[in-house]
Amino acid sequence: MNPIGILGDGQLALLLAESAKARGLSILGYGEDPNSSFARAFPSQFVLGTKKDATALHAFAQQCSVLTLENEFYSSESIKKIESEAGVRVIPDSKSYQHFENKIAQHQFFESLLIAEPRTEIAAGKPDETLTQIETRFQYPVVLKRSQGGYDGYGVRVVSSREQLTPALKDLAHDRGEKILIQEKVAIAYELAQGILCDGKGNFISLPLVETIQRNGICEIVLSRPTLAPELLKKASSQIQSTLEKIAKSGINGLFHFEFFVLKDGSVLINEGAPRPHNSQHLSIDACDTSQFDLLVRYLAEGKLPSDVPKVIPSKPGAMINLLGQTSGSDYTLSLPEFPAPIEAYAKLYQKKDSRPGRKMGHLNLIDESGKLNLVEIARNTLKEYRL
Ligand code: ADP
Repeated sequence: MNPIGILGDGQLALLLAESAKARGLSILGYGEDPNSSFARAFPSQFVLGTKKDATALHAFAQQCSVLTLENEFYSSESIKKIESEAGVRVIPDSKSYQHFENKIAQHQFFESLLIAEPRTEIAAGKPDETLTQIETRFQYPVVLKRSQGGYDGYGVRVVSSREQLTPALKDLAHDRGEKILIQEKVAIAYELAQGILCDGKGNFISLPLVETIQRNGICEIVLSRPTLAPELLKKASSQIQSTLEKIAKSGINGLFHFEFFVLKDGSVLINEGAPRPHNSQHLSIDACDTSQFDLLVRYLAEGKLPSDVPKVIPSKPGAMINLLGQTSGSDYTLSLPEFPAPIEAYAKLYQKKDSRPGRKMGHLNLIDESGKLNLVEIARNTLKEYRL
């Protein structure tokens, strides 16, 4: 069998490749940065090339048995081309991927399935028209989101007044033609996330429902035991379950993750989706028998949902902390505080060449099989105490 190909060379490609390697499967990664996580960890399996170089992409695809993606920065057109011209399967296929390639496509997909979202409109063409649109149809504060290329909150601006609007639109490059979404700002009580592996026929395997805790638009902590009151969690998770069923039944094929806002009455609004492995499920590496990466690797290699994996993958009680860089430069080391027994701590650094303040350099999984410790408190203390 030819290797599994990964489009993208960041930490998700690295973690996916490690799962493939553990199963004795060969992989190739394609990306733009010889100093990326994947390129540094698997230099002999790294192919240097850009997203826009159709010839290089075609040549890469032809070396692979199947392809997958670790980001949504490729256009669905280029995925379609790989399928039709190189004749290589891509998971997610271009039809599924097109719903996720930017936030406008996602919004239209969710709207077509009647899934509840914060009230959202696509901004009109020019900044002055957008201003009129906001002032006639929304109330401040509103949330503006770049349709393409934003991540970790970098493409999101909360605007509280007309004075803040022009600089925000400039910041998001709307005055240079960048498409944006306007959203009502909702009062989020909790944020939850869940991943699903779909076979394109409506069948799917669910990764555990997790709670994500953000600061400044970046996820800091993920918990496999959400902290919502039991009644609230019951209501939110049943709404999420039916949303995921609806999404799977639409016929999408591959691994997808979804983020949800929970309001204080337990009702749920979808925030966004991703057609790939996701930061919110790194806990599955150490808290579950099957991680999100192993699940995807098996699907890529076996071509069907693994029958020995439960329909809802159970998780041990655990917390994941994103380890963000605190200094600049390549000379960085991680130091962690002591953890109370019986915590098992699993730190993973992504082998990035340079650290920068706020850059995702790795993650730390804390597993508490006893289920008795206060993982939120331990995670919050760890955030204050680790050095990197
Ligand atoms: P990104 O794609 O960069 O991760 P998101 O759309 O997930 O951006 O937004 C980042 C964070 O901003 C969310 O996790 C949430 O905390 C906040 N946020 C986003 N949209 C809204 C909204 N409509 N109302 C209130 N908060 C929001």
